[in-house]
Amino acid sequence: MRTTDWRDRAACRYEDPDLFFPAGTTGTFLLQIEQAKDVCRRCPVLAHCAQWAWETRPSDGIFAGLTEPERRYRRRQKRPAPSTMPPVPQPKPTTLAEAFTRHITPTGDGHVLWTGSSRQLKFQGKAYTPLRVAFLLGHGRDPEGLVRRTCGRACFAAEHLTDWRLRYEGAHCGTRPGYQRHLRDGETPCEPCRQANTDADNRLRRTGTTRAAA
Ligand code: SF4
Ligand SMILES: [Zn+2]
Ligand SMILES: [Zn+2]
Repeated sequence: MRTTDWRDRAACRYEDPDLFFPAGTTGTFLLQIEQAKDVCRRCPVLAHCAQWAWETRPSDGIFAGLTEPERRYRRRQKRPAPSTMPPVPQPKPTTLAEAFTRHITPTGDGHVLWTGSSRQLKFQGKAYTPLRVAFLLGHGRDPEGLVRRTCGRACFAAEHLTDWRLRYEGAHCGTRPGYQRHLRDGETPCEPCRQANTDADNRLRRTGTTRAAA
């Protein structure tokens, strides 16, 4: 009769058994514990092992990715034996860009979605608005004034974001944006700009929009 014991398929079969019995839970033992857990993480019979440890209650050692204190804690919480292991915790991001990139997903057609769980991006104890960070990373500077999207979606692609400066940079004289640029820069608007502004005002009164007819 063929044995189908799950132990035959255990990932720890070829590992040093001592690895799974750390003599402590602090300092260098933490590293050992993590190494042992890594073996369990790729173990095909983890669920069997967890069930076994749950029923047998070994007083020591790492089984199914849990140390004895962790098993005890789980019991107190009345949680069932684990059948999978939680993903490896990621190290903290070291740059704002890294923190941002962890929470975005490209849509595949040029847009970028924010997948962060909150509306804030926390980095090194500070909170940022994701839109501001998206702009900053893409344009190399903080946005001035309101950030707007040019694609009309809840998008975080830097090239779809404009701020005040970008919107008015291309504001040529003889246009209403040009007029607004003068004001923003503390200048007296030039004649073509004043004219354009008056025209736009008149259009607004007549048609309800400042846009010139196409
Ligand atoms: S889960 Fe870990 S301890 Fe259990 S059999 Fe697999 S490798 Fe060994
Ligand atoms: Zn977009
Ligand atoms: Zn002008």
